[in-house]
Amino acid sequence: MLDKNIKQQLASYLEMLENDIVIKKNVGNDKTSLEVNELIDEISSMSPKIHVEIATFDRTPSFSINRMHEDTGVTFAGVPLGHEFSSLVLALLQVSGRPPKIDESLIKSIKSIDRDLSFETYISLSCHNCPDVVQALNLMSILNPRITHTMIDGEPFQDEVESRNIMAVPTVFLNGEHFDSGRTSLEEILLKLGEKKDNTALNDKEVFDVLVIGGGPSGSSAAIYSARKGLNTGIVVERFGGQVMDTMAIENFISVKYTEGPKLSRNLEEHVRNYDVDIISGESAKSLTKNGDFIEVALESNATLKSKTVIISTGAKWRELGVPGEEKFKNKGVAFCPHCDGPIYKGKDIAVVGGGNSGIEAAIDLANIVKHVTVLEFLPELKADAVLQEKLYSLSNVTVLKNVQVKEITGTNKVDGIIYIDRSTNEEKRINLEGIFIQIGLAPNTKWISESLELNRIGEIVVDKKCFTSLDGVFAAGDCTDSPYKQIIIAMGSGATASLSAFDYLIRNKK
Ligand code: FAD
Repeated sequence: MLDKNIKQQLASYLEMLENDIVIKKNVGNDKTSLEVNELIDEISSMSPKIHVEIATFDRTPSFSINRMHEDTGVTFAGVPLGHEFSSLVLALLQVSGRPPKIDESLIKSIKSIDRDLSFETYISLSCHNCPDVVQALNLMSILNPRITHTMIDGEPFQDEVESRNIMAVPTVFLNGEHFDSGRTSLEEILLKLGEKKDNTALNDKEVFDVLVIGGGPSGSSAAIYSARKGLNTGIVVERFGGQVMDTMAIENFISVKYTEGPKLSRNLEEHVRNYDVDIISGESAKSLTKNGDFIEVALESNATLKSKTVIISTGAKWRELGVPGEEKFKNKGVAFCPHCDGPIYKGKDIAVVGGGNSGIEAAIDLANIVKHVTVLEFLPELKADAVLQEKLYSLSNVTVLKNVQVKEITGTNKVDGIIYIDRSTNEEKRINLEGIFIQIGLAPNTKWISESLELNRIGEIVVDKKCFTSLDGVFAAGDCTDSPYKQIIIAMGSGATASLSAFDYLIRNKK
């Protein structure tokens, strides 16, 4: 079941098990049960510290990972391979007693929860956003005996997916009620549970030399360059990775032939942590003002940080259509991540809005899974590369509508159709479908500084070639700027430029 490479990696992880653990399994005779059995047999044969017992769980097949005489509540329903393999490995290590790599304050918050919380997370094995959520909830379950968590692969549990109306992954239920959908972090889960983070200490932090906002490629690069210059550096990160987390195959990060978004995100974080950088995580900036010699950055959690210079690297996010129904049906048929949510629409009729490279790539991928794909493009021609268009037109279950404008997304509890205008005749038409993937490009994350800095027509921060913005002491880098090209390596380069400019500015202005 596990290939040679993975087995080798797993063997080295299993050597790190601190204490004995017990896998309790509930399996039947179906195909997935056989796979679960095989996986558990392989894993347990690789370490004398892993013991296996038969148990009964609500779902077949499923298995839990426990301490020797204490259940942890960490359960996997289905086979946690694909992107969830890392969740399985982490669960084995953490249950065995290996300490998690998170702030002590978060561990305290989790341990102090004094009510019963039973989480269930529906995932797909091709979803690269799901492991973050699964790992956060597993960890909560490992640290607090009143918390349990079950990861459920939607593929073998299609009936549940249908009956619980799940239209996006990850989707989390808490004590039987819908709790959250989409990518989220441990910090955000705790906030949602009402576990307020004590951030008063943030107000007392010393004035930074450089404060970086955003933990994508440009922000990570800016932080590393600043720290290497010996500057007192802070970085505000909602989470590390940025758009890279939405990317699967990366083949143009020069000198690395192939990597994947989640892996590159982990590498970015590890590299930043390697330096003396004050990481203010789980926070986002809400405003920036110049106050005498300092720049003050207010955070959503109401703390304020002060710095002599600031580097804004808040990147971009999926652009939305802005039509009725889009907001209402997010995660109920309106989706942005084909890799993550594609498998949920198996055998269904769906649409992809957007005829650029990302839209056509999504349509080609989705056509392999769903019953039928309708592509809707505003312009009279698709903008995607010829090779992608050729592939698209070769598929029998795809219809392409050009020169059309989406007017409304309709439905009651979930999407049931899309209304569009044929721009050549002005006629209004409707298609019945169950899912709509919006792929119309990206918009810069700059609303929060629109009062403080000069932005261009499309909201990008105007910078010069040294990454200076219109406000003295404030620099910007990466996809949130008016840089003509948006790529990882370019974002990293401009993060480095912004940081070197900030260093130069600090020296010249004797700050
Ligand atoms: P981002 O990656 O967008 O990071 C910005 C970070 O700032 C995010 O984490 C965000 O949450 C955070 N942030 C936003 N607002 C705030 C706030 N107010 N406070 C604190 N933090 C905030 N490029 C390639 O080179 N190769 C590829 O193969 C490739 N594939 C791609 C595939 C997809 C689907 C997408 C969407 C992009 C792809 N790109 C690729 C482009 C590449 O990912 C971006 O150019 C790059 O990530 C930009 O880095 P950045 O740091 O400027 O911004």
